[in-house]
Amino acid sequence: MQLEHPVLARALQPLAHTETEVPVVDPARGEAFAWVPRVTPEEVAAAIAEAARAQPAWGRATWAERAAVLARLARLMSDAAEDLARLITLEEGKPLAEARAEIAYARSFVEYYAGMGGTEIGHVLASPFPDTEVRTELEPLGVTAAITPWNFPSAMITRKLAPALLGGNAFLLKPAEATPLSALALSALAHEAGLPRGLFHVLTGGRNDAAAIGGALTSSPVVKKLSFTGSTTVGKLLLAQCADTVKRVTLELGGNAPFLVFDDADLDAAVAGLLVAKFRNTGQSCVAAQRVYVHASIFDRFVDALAERVARLETGPGLDPKNHIGPLIDARAVDKVEGHVEDAREKGARVLVGGTRIEGRGSFYAPTLLVDFSKDARLAAEETFGPVLAVRRFSDEAEVIAEANATRAGLVAYFYSESARRIARVSRGLEFGMVGVNTGLVSTAVAPFGGIKESGLGREGAREGLYDWTRLKYVCARYQEP
Ligand code: ADP
Repeated sequence: MQLEHPVLARALQPLAHTETEVPVVDPARGEAFAWVPRVTPEEVAAAIAEAARAQPAWGRATWAERAAVLARLARLMSDAAEDLARLITLEEGKPLAEARAEIAYARSFVEYYAGMGGTEIGHVLASPFPDTEVRTELEPLGVTAAITPWNFPSAMITRKLAPALLGGNAFLLKPAEATPLSALALSALAHEAGLPRGLFHVLTGGRNDAAAIGGALTSSPVVKKLSFTGSTTVGKLLLAQCADTVKRVTLELGGNAPFLVFDDADLDAAVAGLLVAKFRNTGQSCVAAQRVYVHASIFDRFVDALAERVARLETGPGLDPKNHIGPLIDARAVDKVEGHVEDAREKGARVLVGGTRIEGRGSFYAPTLLVDFSKDARLAAEETFGPVLAVRRFSDEAEVIAEANATRAGLVAYFYSESARRIARVSRGLEFGMVGVNTGLVSTAVAPFGGIKESGLGREGAREGLYDWTRLKYVCARYQEP
């Protein structure tokens, strides 16, 4: 772990030499290279208390002052971009080029919310009462918490951290056990940027500590909000845990994204978009294309073009620039991908490319293209979270929309078509929180990211993201002269 930026070298370098507590494993080598503290529930309670002491002053600071800290954090992230990207590749595995893109994306949330510092923070409404002002205002929630996943170790944090801090809150973060270093790096940079002490705590631990740390956060009446990105199972558990104290809850859970290619699509564009929607982060993304439906009249042409492109993808350690596909996060992830491919095969799918794990060091699975998967295959219902493209043919628009919607998830759907009427009709018909038309990438800080159905609650990014990190005060003030 070679770090160039002095702030990161000071904060993180020692973690490579302690060899105690919770190991951080490089998935490309299957070896630990750093160790982070195991935070106890008592330490979580102390962090909550410290956050509660620090938050009121931060909440009273002006929006411009809070935005200025974010602007400085964004600059530091820029200065330290190469270190931050390498940390992601080391702890998560994604190819370095993608890690660099993630840092730019992560920074874009910090910049976006820094830019919102001077924005309107409420409305004056047309009062129905004489001599009476009717207005709304955004206030801090107070002490807030986030639990984040490993697949985007930096961006999934800043998407929550930036609006939380702009909104005047204290922020307690439990990062995923696999990727704590990106979280600790952001904390070091935020404090270097002038964030007062006590407002941003990183609560690290192993897989077996997650429930205790999470429980200490959700059971505390001082914590006013929990924002979670992760699996649907854990999200439901946390939602139930938050009921007792009626916390604000934002959930970004699993997707099961359909990707539809109509017969009037630009085929080259659709192939290129699908490769991005599927193979970004080695398929480990909640917005990854999971089920691909291609119109029967273009199926063979489309699949041939796809097979040729998938066969050319290079797999290996993310630090080697020739690789497009990195390791999966761990051996369990490889087992799941293998299980999905075997199940699809048994139920009639044909494997055209890949279809095997890669033996040796690290947790690698070959980029895979399988076609004609059956409706009852496991991968039709569950996210694979790996480099497996599963394609099926369709012939009727209404039927394929119904099939795309036949899931309890509702995060994102993609489709390709050149017809304006079809674009309007299909966009309306898809029951998803986000729809990508003629693109395989919809994520940006300026748009409200989020799902419907069992994919989640609330939105992240955009103005809506700030609303989710603040509470609304409505003031009705009568100014009648005596
Ligand atoms: P994945 O299976 O992809 O790791 P999870 O939903 O299990 O997805 O993990 C997302 C985040 O939720 C991680 O930070 C993980 O440590 C945390 N987590 C897992 N189980 C619990 C739990 N019982 N309580 C609180 N947090 C949890």
